[in-house]
Amino acid sequence: MIKDNLLKIREEISRTAERSGRSPDEIDLLAVSKRIVVPKIEEAFQAGQLLFGENFVQEADEKIEKLDKAITWHFIGHLQSNKAKIAARLFHMIETVDRIKIARALNKHAGEMRKKLEILVQVNVGKEEQKSGISPENAGQFLKDLQNFEYLSVRGLMTMPPFAADPELSRPFFRSLKQLAERFTQAGYFANPDNIVLSMGMSNDFTVAIEEGSTLVRVGTAIFGSRT
Ligand SMILES: *Cc1c(COP(=O)(O)O)cnc(C)c1O
Repeated sequence: MIKDNLLKIREEISRTAERSGRSPDEIDLLAVSKRIVVPKIEEAFQAGQLLFGENFVQEADEKIEKLDKAITWHFIGHLQSNKAKIAARLFHMIETVDRIKIARALNKHAGEMRKKLEILVQVNVGKEEQKSGISPENAGQFLKDLQNFEYLSVRGLMTMPPFAADPELSRPFFRSLKQLAERFTQAGYFANPDNIVLSMGMSNDFTVAIEEGSTLVRVGTAIFGSRT
């Protein structure tokens, strides 16, 4: 069943990319495995899925050691600085960097491991008070400040728009993240300007996100079913 879901989603990603005049190779699928047990993650891995995302450092720590080393892990949850050391060790990319204190901690711990840690800046495009992410207004200065961190590789932006049952309502938020990313590319803020990562789109709105330029969709429920 997980295998069928993955197949269906990959097909939908390809179809949407082609319809939007993009190459399907430009879009990565991150399987969001928070609160999903190891055997199910294993099942997705056996079906060829190599990229997974977790929201909680301790949960990830327990699961990652039981799973194949070929898996690439992204952190997509809210990161506290007392967890930065473990996070810097466990993850290939931290998608949710939104304040200097966290960046400083990640840089320090990555440096101790002689590891260049990939990061995304999480932007709160919907300006929701309860939501993590830096405001679009402050994002430019923040990216500028991040240039000083030797062990962080700033690869792009991530966002989670306000919840909406209708995916069309997410479109303007995806579009504004893309526009921000274009501005910051011009400014030279990204480590790999020919290959910017735009992490946007989840189970219910990833096709809209791809139409608006997403290069990384984060899909949980549509792969694993509801988390209960
Ligand atoms: C849980 C989560 C997802 C996946 O959501 P689904 O609706 O299950 O696809 C994506 N991104 C983030 C940041 C999440 O916390």
